[in-house]
Amino acid sequence: MCAVSTASANKKFIVAKFGGTSVANFDTMCKSADIVITNKNVRIVVLSASANITNLLLKLTEACNDNRRKALLKQIRQRQYTIINRLGNPSNIQPIIDNLLARLTSLSEVTTQYPLIARQIDEIVSYGELMSSYLFVEILRQNGVNATWFDVRNIMKTNDKFGKAEPNQQLLKRLADKYLQPKLHESLIVTQGFIGQDMAGRTTTLGRGGSDYTAALIAEALSFSQVDIWTDVAGIYTTDPRIVASAKSISAITFNEAAEMAIFGAKILHPSTLLPAIRAEIPVFVGSSQMPEKGGTYICTSTEKLPQFRALTIRRKQTLLTLHSLKMLHARGFLAEIFTLLSQHHISVDLITTSEVSIALTLDTTGSTSTNGNLLTETLMTELAKLCRVDVEEGLALVAIIGNSLSQINGLGSKIFSALATYNIRMICYGASSHNICLLVSDKEAETIIQKLHKNLFE
Ligand code: ADP
Ligand code: ASP
Ligand code: MG
Repeated sequence: MCAVSTASANKKFIVAKFGGTSVANFDTMCKSADIVITNKNVRIVVLSASANITNLLLKLTEACNDNRRKALLKQIRQRQYTIINRLGNPSNIQPIIDNLLARLTSLSEVTTQYPLIARQIDEIVSYGELMSSYLFVEILRQNGVNATWFDVRNIMKTNDKFGKAEPNQQLLKRLADKYLQPKLHESLIVTQGFIGQDMAGRTTTLGRGGSDYTAALIAEALSFSQVDIWTDVAGIYTTDPRIVASAKSISAITFNEAAEMAIFGAKILHPSTLLPAIRAEIPVFVGSSQMPEKGGTYICTSTEKLPQFRALTIRRKQTLLTLHSLKMLHARGFLAEIFTLLSQHHISVDLITTSEVSIALTLDTTGSTSTNGNLLTETLMTELAKLCRVDVEEGLALVAIIGNSLSQINGLGSKIFSALATYNIRMICYGASSHNICLLVSDKEAETIIQKLHKNLFE
């Protein structure tokens, strides 16, 4: 069980976030609304776009012919209408959704320049969250709830790194105090995850899956006592239950462990979600909106048990860069040069191993930006080539074993590698953190490797 922090016990308010499948259609929205209605402590609801709508909007930004564009807009419109048509009194909301769809249509038509730039992409993808939040407010109102729609861009001010914008915490706090705090006792606030606004008033997004992050940031800004992440599985499991059917839900997990899982690819939480929660010591609950009775996972500062092996994660689309240069031999400053260059190109390196004359680095190209930008641009490759010989390998995946005191386990190697005797492990990172061991493997073999490791370490 989790230890309750006294700082956060003062208030009982909860931010509840519902992901795409929880607001996919009228029925799932109603189930999600029930959760909000039965827990009076929920004061703010943060919503994702209905399932797959963000993907359709992204396709819309890539659609360079009229027919394709029309077909996508039709699909998006139909999804909204299957919800509108089930409402008791659709006339309340229909004009608002029609207006949003009309604006979306003109945005996608004005843009005849392909590929679209990140700013235009962010503007277009924001419509998913705008529409789902209006529809959800209407469902709540029809259930007798006094719900208010709130445009999160009034408070979620970010930098202008479109596709993966970073919110300004101080400003968020000031604006949340000003605009949200006075409303908290009057009505239930429904707002959008994922989207924000830069200082010039342009719409930004926080990266794919960013609604979890929005929920945690708002809870931190208003010193709420809990964040509830409602999704399609009953909590955080020992590994993705889609890969290992026998994976088990974890009842309580520490911030550190869950943050490692999120960073190393457990899609259940956006990688930045736990930063605000850790800063403000706000426990996070993860559960299934369609089966809330199944319980879920509490993430908090400490738990009764700290198992050696906690979970396995997988992060796909990894790129391995191997940089060779004789200049490295007995020299100083080569790594600094490489890292400066990568940082100038906004690239963060995940894993690193070195030898006398070469460095191997992994980069995450999962498109965690909302705009699917390519990391290894031509300019970067040209600049790197001036410093060293560069080999690029793709089609790799990172499998991470998450646990506690991993660096102190005797015989750890045999436990792990006996399961993987027949697979090629391209790179291993172990030792820097006692919470993880990372293996870089072929993407094609990654799921089988997870299944074998799960059997050996968890079953
Ligand atoms: P949402 O749309 O609600 O944000 P996501 O699809 O982003 O939902 O995240 C939920 C999915 O995360 C699950 O359906 C599951 O397949 C995946 N997942 C990956 N790793 C884990 C894990 N360790 N435990 C539970 N789910 C996981
Ligand atoms: N709708 C956005 C996405 O699909 C954000 C989210 O779901 O959290 O990435
Ligand atoms: Mg998600």
